[in-house]
This record gives sequence, structure tokens and C-alpha cells, in this order.
Amino acid sequence: MKPMSRFNEMRAILLERNRFYGDRLKGANCFEDIPFTTKEQLVDDQAKNPPFGTNLTFPVEAYVRIHQTSGTAGKPVLWLDTKESWDWWLRCWEEVFKGAGVRAGDRVYVAFSFGPFIGFWAAFEASQRMGMMTISGGGQSTEQRLRSIFQREATVLVCTPTYALRLADEARQRGLDMSQSAIRITVHAGEPGASIPETRRRIQEVFGAKTFDHVGMTEMGAYGFECETQSGMHINEDEFIAEMIDPQTLGPNAEGEKGELVLTNLGRVGMPLIRYRTGDLGMISREPCACGRLSARLIGGVLGRADDMITIRGINVFPSAIENIVRRHPQVVEFAIEVHRQREMHELHLKVEIEGPADSVIERLGQEFSNDLRIRASIQRVEDGSLPRFELKSRRLTFVE
Ligand SMILES: [Zn+2]
Repeated sequence: MKPMSRFNEMRAILLERNRFYGDRLKGANCFEDIPFTTKEQLVDDQAKNPPFGTNLTFPVEAYVRIHQTSGTAGKPVLWLDTKESWDWWLRCWEEVFKGAGVRAGDRVYVAFSFGPFIGFWAAFEASQRMGMMTISGGGQSTEQRLRSIFQREATVLVCTPTYALRLADEARQRGLDMSQSAIRITVHAGEPGASIPETRRRIQEVFGAKTFDHVGMTEMGAYGFECETQSGMHINEDEFIAEMIDPQTLGPNAEGEKGELVLTNLGRVGMPLIRYRTGDLGMISREPCACGRLSARLIGGVLGRADDMITIRGINVFPSAIENIVRRHPQVVEFAIEVHRQREMHELHLKVEIEGPADSVIERLGQEFSNDLRIRASIQRVEDGSLPRFELKSRRLTFVE
């Protein structure tokens, strides 16, 4: 069934049963008339109507899973799935695996703690449903995970890009060579890292594997994946309606223009999102892909988050552009970005953990910031192990008032 027919089918159910969307849909004559949904509205709705809010299409008894957003950008939002909508999540993840070339016979290692965040829960179950041996890395230390990857001869690693690099770093310290493991594919999500060229290059190099990005959100679903050509993030347009808007004017963007992605999911009728402002910034291309898929692609993946943009002396930079420079230098083990806002002019301060002599690395980083991004940064070496390490949703950017 065509996406818009599916939407209309869902719309009829929501008008009748969903308090959150009932009113929004009633006043709209066409799809483009429906007001955008924002994260703030969801937070607000759950605060006023605890604990789950009013975006429930069915009685609470119909829901079989509950997860929450990581809350990095505010209060966590709770998200509920029915059996049908969870099955739909798994279907979306099957597309992620298929895009990356994962197949029956692979052994999929999921380095994830299986807590309240949705994270890789759906990846784990989708992998199992596709017939792969699926290995949990829950409740384990990094060292135990490394051992498990080698001993069980895992061929696919699923984790955040940051955590992939952390595994590699710990392996190196223990004299293990990850490129000698059976890992042939790595699949990432949780942060834009795997689409950042230098981060991808490093992961591919240390694992001797092909690295794929994927993008999803707790409240939305797994909406984007890479195919074997690695030429942008395919949006799963069988299951999502994608629009690109100008985040300032809220008007539609032309193809190839950078904007904010607005999504509608079609398979999560129990707790849907319609015209949701994802905050993910990118650029859509509708050129057919060499893989044969016709869906829209985000060129270069998610380029940043609307709320993460930093302005340094009139120049707009995303943390991903900074990461792309830092990752050129394998001596940098971990880093953190601080933006100081005491004065009118914002200042960028970069803290780095460096292995070995630091002077030349710091000098080159400074040059590259100024040449490639046209910004000046103060760069400070900090003690090994002093910066936070992340397993999920890295937050390397802080604002200092
Ligand atoms: Zn493709």
C-alpha cells in the first residue's frame, strides 16, 4: 500500500481514538495542514497527563513494551509499543541489516547494556528473527566484551561509533589486534559518528571491516540506513514520510538544500508521530542510488542536530565538523568540546587526551581548525582517563557560562 494511503488509514483510527492527535487532525484539510509535532509538546503532554501522556491510541493494556528517551536534550519521554508496533520496529531494523549486507550465518555481537533506552534492543531481536546467531554484550565490561567477540567469532559488531573506538583502544592496550577478529561489518547508531568520514575511516581501519551508519530515534523508529555503496543514508520511505523544512521559516526546502528533517511514521499506530520535527539536520537527494533503491537519501548522513550548532565569532560549526578533524589524529584517545560564553564572543576550548608526545598534535589541530573551519580554538592536553567515556549517546559538547 502507498505511504499516503497507509497514512489515511491510520488517520481514521487516530481521529476516533487518539486524544493527542485527534484535534490536530480534525482541523487539517490535507497532510501539509497538519501542525508539526515537537519534542517539547511530548514532554509537556506527559507532564500534564502522567505517566504516559495522551498520545495513546489503545487502552494501556494493549502495550507490551516501554522505553524512554535518553533525556540528553531535556526530560526523558516515555514511549510505549504494542506487539504490532514492536514487530514494525524489527522490520525497520531488518532493512538496516540488509543494507549493510548482514546475512544468515553471520554472528551479531550487540555491545549494549540493555537498559531502559531503546538503543539496540530492536537490533538484537531483528537479528535473531533474521536467523543470525545473536550475542548479547549486556552486563559486561569492555574487556569481557572483547574476549566474547573473539571467542564467539562474531562477524558483525553493533554499537555506537564511540564505543567501537573504545573497544579498539582497550584491545590495543591489551595487545589484541581487532583486525584479526572475525568482525567483517560494523553497524552503528546513537550519534552521527559513523557518517563522519574520519571517524568511519578509523573504525574501518582498526576492525578491518566495512562500517555502516544507521539512524533512528526512540520516539520515531529506525528510519535510515546505509546500503553497500555507502553513499548517504537511505530513508526507509516504505515506513516513513519524510519532509525537509527550513528550521527558521518552517517552510518546505528544495531538494539539495540543507534543512531539518520532519518525519511521520506509518507502522506505530499505538503511539505515532506525525510531522515530527526530528531536530536532525541534513540534505536530501532523490537521485536513484547505484544499489537500485529509489528512496530519498541524506547525503553525508545526519549533518548535525538543530540544538547543537555552535557559533564562534560569527562562524557556525557543528560538533561533527570538529570531530572530523580530531579523528584525523590517532594519537587523540578522547576529547571534549567546551564553548565558553562569558563574554559576547564565544570561545572554543578543546580538551584532548593524547597518547605520546603532544606538542605537534596540538599544533596541527590548531592549524586545521583555522584552515578548515576558520575558527580559533584553545587546545589543552588533559590527563589520560580524565574525560568521560560513553557507551551510548556521547555528549562531548558543553556550554560553560
Ligand atoms: Zn543505495
